[in-house]
Amino acid sequence: MEGLTNLMEETVLDKISQLWPQTKFCQCDECRIDVAAYALNRLPPRYVHSLTGVMLHKFDANTTQTDAEITATVYQAMEIIGSDPHKNSKKSDDQ
Ligand SMILES: [Zn+2]
Repeated sequence: MEGLTNLMEETVLDKISQLWPQTKFCQCDECRIDVAAYALNRLPPRYVHSLTGVMLHKFDANTTQTDAEITATVYQAMEIIGSDPHKNSKKSDDQ
């Protein structure tokens, strides 16, 4: 949506860039999007007004995901996607 930025999205993409080079999983653009989507579906969005920086949706300290939780979720995403990459581009013949 125009004017809105999901801080969690930027945080997750940052984490992926930090952690991924330490793994030997496929790191192509397709896998990057899969990892980001997996992690973002499991973490709460944090929207801010990208033009003024005003917080539109603010989490209090008790509900904010800690950095450690985000790291753990991103790691989990990299392992899940990395152990079965390019799932979406394969034909689903096992269902
Ligand atoms: Zn890949």
